[in-house]
Amino acid sequence: VAKGAGKGRWCRYQSELHTAIVERLELRAALTEAVQKLSFSVEYQPIVDMRTGAAVGFEALARWHHPARGPVPPDQFIGLAEETGLIEPIGSWVLRQAVEAAARWHTVRHEATAVPVATGTPYVSINVSARQLRTPGFVGTVRAALEAADVPPSRVMLEITESLLLRDQEPVWTELAELRTLGLRVAIDDFGTGFSSLSYLQQMPADVLKLDRSFTETIASSRRQRLLVEGIIRLAGTLGLEIIAEGIETEAVRTILLDLGCASGQGYLFSRPLRDPDALRWLHGDPPADPPPPPAGTPPR
Ligand code: C2E
Ligand code: MG
Ligand code: MG
Ligand code: MG
Repeated sequence: VAKGAGKGRWCRYQSELHTAIVERLELRAALTEAVQKLSFSVEYQPIVDMRTGAAVGFEALARWHHPARGPVPPDQFIGLAEETGLIEPIGSWVLRQAVEAAARWHTVRHEATAVPVATGTPYVSINVSARQLRTPGFVGTVRAALEAADVPPSRVMLEITESLLLRDQEPVWTELAELRTLGLRVAIDDFGTGFSSLSYLQQMPADVLKLDRSFTETIASSRRQRLLVEGIIRLAGTLGLEIIAEGIETEAVRTILLDLGCASGQGYLFSRPLRDPDALRWLHGDPPADPPPPPAGTPPR
């Protein structure tokens, strides 16, 4: 009997494995097609000065529109894109889109706005993956995108995850140093989830720390976490790094972060990621042109 049950389990396991492999192959084929058809878009989430609510920048976030599945979140395709090398065309496309969008934000500054606009034009912050950074000519690609859109390097930030910075130091640090020499800023994304030692942190070619959402999420309920975040904020200050907190969802969290000395942040409290024209409208204090349907699972108001 036991043997029979074991066999049944094995078969089920095999068929699940089979399904997973088939699904992955399908997703891979679909992603390849998506690159040919450019079935992607970029959304922009405001990064605000939490004291005033004014936008200081926008983070560009890639979206894939799958013909059957609908929108596929980046967590479900960036990894696959990395493995297959498709991240190069996708990443360059996102980069160009984001820089072109940033060029349009330029005009906002001179107009009357309902939402207070921070001094200076908002920058764009673009996520860059390992494989993109290691692609020969990446610096040239970035440079060309900036020149084509006529956006100065000071208005562009590149986000690199902490784990990537630790993993591929040699090749990646050199590229980043070169980009910083051009005048771009570099942010360490998801900071706190990797294991940077203090000595590394001091040497890293970076300007900004993005404090991972896992810290901000728990800050209101845990004193220990609050002390930890306070320590990170101090450390950033000592090292001359700016800090941006991610995933701020409540007023309580905003207040605590301000008390601890962190002035910049992004999160649903301020705005969800916005489609391109809506980012500009948001800057003007206007409502979205055509509100998208609420995400699945949201209770009706
Ligand atoms: P990330 O760079 O840490 O981006 C922040 C993620 O948190 C985004 O998820 C954003 O929509 C989400 N978020 C923002 N505010 C809140 C909040 O208040 N609460 C919660 N729960 N979530 C919030 P998204 O857009 O799904 O992106 C996931 C990750 O995918 C990004 O994490 C980034 O690492 C990666 N990614 C996105 N676009 C690109 C891209 O163009 N290239 C690369 N290489 N990676 C990308
Ligand atoms: Mg990011
Ligand atoms: Mg992040
Ligand atoms: Mg994160």
